[in-house]
Amino acid sequence: MPDFRYSLQVIKEAWENCQNCSLGVRRKQVNGKFVFGEGTGRGIMFIGEGPGANEEDEGRPFVGKSGEVLRQVINKLGISHCSYISNVVACRSCTQAYNGEGQPIMRYNRALKIHEPFIKDEAPSPVQIAACLPRLSEEIYLVDPVLIVTLGGEAAKSLISERSFSVLSERGRAREIDIPGAWSLPELTDKKKIWMRKVRQEFVLPVVQNRVRYLLLPTLHPAYVLRRQADQSFKNPLDMFIEDMKMAAKIYDRYLYETYGTAPLEREVTVDDLVETG
Ligand code: URA
Repeated sequence: MPDFRYSLQVIKEAWENCQNCSLGVRRKQVNGKFVFGEGTGRGIMFIGEGPGANEEDEGRPFVGKSGEVLRQVINKLGISHCSYISNVVACRSCTQAYNGEGQPIMRYNRALKIHEPFIKDEAPSPVQIAACLPRLSEEIYLVDPVLIVTLGGEAAKSLISERSFSVLSERGRAREIDIPGAWSLPELTDKKKIWMRKVRQEFVLPVVQNRVRYLLLPTLHPAYVLRRQADQSFKNPLDMFIEDMKMAAKIYDRYLYETYGTAPLEREVTVDDLVETG
């Protein structure tokens, strides 16, 4: 339960052995790492879908190929000191890949010099997302960002309850969302009717969960950016991603200006500034 008296470290320790969904069960079976967020609070919080193989090995978010794109743009924009990176789910979501004949696909592991089953990442299910959302709400509450940037449609949809949400049409535009915050002390409602409620054989005072309003800016997932980079029929996704990230930095600058009177910085980054990531 979000509580400002806890630290992120306490929240991490409370969740790192979580077995609330099948992702946690698998993580434990394969001895994979739980991937909690990292970075600085009260700035820009980037939220991806969930860790992949590299992240599961290292126990850190966005350390693989898509992380390279994300971290490069953050660095070039000069916002790494005020960035926090996390994911909607904290355990890797993946499955064994099969060929057309239903046989498991095997891959050669050069480091171990063995053939092993090819495990591919897959989107976490709504049940798995729902199981991890309380952890994400707690993390958001403690990071308390000025702006949340969701990476990809799935991350946005898990925080925006809008079924028809399309990241390609909604990207780059900030909107407000409510995140469940700390539980408040008892709310005294109608004394006669619900002065006390019976919950699991016990009488308790009614409590309400406070909600915190944040700004959320949806953008593309860096993995999508990498996949579609060569697609000439499409507006360059990397351009779109950079455009949205610049918008995120601009919103943060505006917050600094309005709160502390700090003059906005010149931030420039173009596709050519980024080293070859493919
Ligand atoms: N993709 C994500 O959504 N999150 C990560 O941490 C890595 C890749």
